[in-house]
Amino acid sequence: MDYQNLANLLYKNTHTTPEYYYEKFPARKLAPGAEVTRTAPSPTGFYHTGSLFGAMIDKFLADKSNGVFYLRIEDTDQKRQVAGAADIAYNALCKFNTKPDEGFMGEGKPQVGDYGSYTQSERLEIYNAFAKRLVELGRAFPCFCKQGITLTYNGVKLTEGKEDVKERRAQQLQELGEIVDHDPCRGLDIADIDLNLKLGKPWALKLLSKGDPDKTFEFVDLIKGKRELHENCKDVVLMKSNGIPPYALAHVVDDTLMHTTIVVRGEEWWPSTNAHLEIFNALGIKPPKYAHTPVVCKLDEETGNKRKLSKRLDPEADARYFVEKGFPTVVINEYL
Ligand code: GLU
Repeated sequence: MDYQNLANLLYKNTHTTPEYYYEKFPARKLAPGAEVTRTAPSPTGFYHTGSLFGAMIDKFLADKSNGVFYLRIEDTDQKRQVAGAADIAYNALCKFNTKPDEGFMGEGKPQVGDYGSYTQSERLEIYNAFAKRLVELGRAFPCFCKQGITLTYNGVKLTEGKEDVKERRAQQLQELGEIVDHDPCRGLDIADIDLNLKLGKPWALKLLSKGDPDKTFEFVDLIKGKRELHENCKDVVLMKSNGIPPYALAHVVDDTLMHTTIVVRGEEWWPSTNAHLEIFNALGIKPPKYAHTPVVCKLDEETGNKRKLSKRLDPEADARYFVEKGFPTVVINEYL
């Protein structure tokens, strides 16, 4: 397969490269040992108390090392977005003594720092450059599965409907074992890709995972310590069919260009860490350090057991709750 040709076919309007951005956003001028951390909320309604917990760790690490703590708005999930939610996050950080040094500073206010925009929806051109590079390297391919794929067999066009594709995939998953999830579209040749594009089929970009399901590697998490991780065998989505990247690619690109040194994030991201590391690896980028924080829990009044704070059931999952109830903010900081 001529990957360069494929990259030009898929990203014909993308003329910038990762190198261009590496030059545009050079290393920060900080003393050795200074940590760059960030809180990266998705503006989906309220600022979660668990996010505040993470942000406090971020700020502590940055302050202690004379580093930088910044706020990035991860607004790539358009369906879940709520107007005004980015401001809610910023205001909660300020209220709870966790004001960012850099980044988003409120709607309509100028952002602070040389590594912006700090709002992901304003960075689509940048993501395209990295997506294109992954195609050039043979590490990403377009997936048409949602619509069914059209293929040419001996000069005859045949379309596999969405259900056929799903069935083929289920069969494959069973054969390969659960942790391998190779997408049926990874086998399309360039003529078939061209054909599907000409038919106007929407496509998503997926990672061509190269992991071996029988292999593990050692990974040191700053909180969990040394762990064995399975190599990633999932062709995860890098770009959705609307041209917007999900978290996996967006955070790899942003944390690289913004020079984050420690990603402090919730435990829920731990299972996809191997996929994120594969993306860094495919791009030839050294990943930052990771610290996966435990989820904030409460004692369930009915069962007496500890459980995760629930967005749906617990009003205190929203950091503003404590302000409304009159708790001094330092008490909440201390508790967290
Ligand atoms: N937008 C992600 C979230 O809200 C950020 C995770 C991270 O900090 O990397 O969960």
